[in-house]
Amino acid sequence: MSVEVSTLTDVTASAAPTGKTRRSKKWDTETHLGLVRRARRMNRELARAFPHVYCELDFTNPLELAVATILSAQSTDKRVNLTTPALFLKYRTALDYAQADRTEMEELIRPTGFYRNKANSLIRLGQELVARFDGEVPDNIEDLVTLPGVGRKTANVILGNAFDIPGITVDTHFGRLVRRWRWTAEEDPVKVEFAIGELIERKEWTLLSHRVIFHGRRVCHARKPACGVCVLAKDCPSFGLGPTDPETAAALVKGPETEHLLALAGL
Ligand code: SF4
Repeated sequence: MSVEVSTLTDVTASAAPTGKTRRSKKWDTETHLGLVRRARRMNRELARAFPHVYCELDFTNPLELAVATILSAQSTDKRVNLTTPALFLKYRTALDYAQADRTEMEELIRPTGFYRNKANSLIRLGQELVARFDGEVPDNIEDLVTLPGVGRKTANVILGNAFDIPGITVDTHFGRLVRRWRWTAEEDPVKVEFAIGELIERKEWTLLSHRVIFHGRRVCHARKPACGVCVLAKDCPSFGLGPTDPETAAALVKGPETEHLLALAGL
């Protein structure tokens, strides 16, 4: 059981002991088939909540997405999107990255943080792509994860968004939410990826990843989730972790979909 679910138990225990017992029991006795059905139902609800999901990093080809994803580590997509136009203008091919002047590149990517390590990864990425893949970004996870700066998370982002090959992207939002929902208790991102892959249809993997990350950024926040206006409330074992009063919860919703999300909640 995750820490977050334990917190829920504390919250509901003081508020409504009878309801809490019923809710806990319901989730504790859920079968695997029940979980699959619930997970797929929640994915459909998320699709209703976020009909227009997309990769929040700007890119026009697989190389740019690989670079942007590497830069996004310990940074925000917004910050990366402010940084990449000048970078992409100067470095257009894998060879450009392979032959880059390190100091110049560091200056360009400095705002994203950890710029020395990241410049190192980008130059080595260019070198590896030129040496082993004719300068092209490979379209399979086995090759992608052999590249500098590319772990499974980055590889799945590239596959799903640049090549249209289904991939599950486990970032901090994704991990936090699927544990709150008791889709899995795993903490290790790779184990989470495989566990969720067994619950959700393969063709849905990329869109599911976007939807969950959108929900984590806009509604189901780490500290104060907006439970009172959440489309997943009836299927969520952690309902009550945040405010359940609709008016209070509404104030916690963020992002451009706020009006749509509140309308779905009847506000
Ligand atoms: S009800 Fe919604 S906002 Fe609250 S914990 Fe569950 S998913 Fe997150």
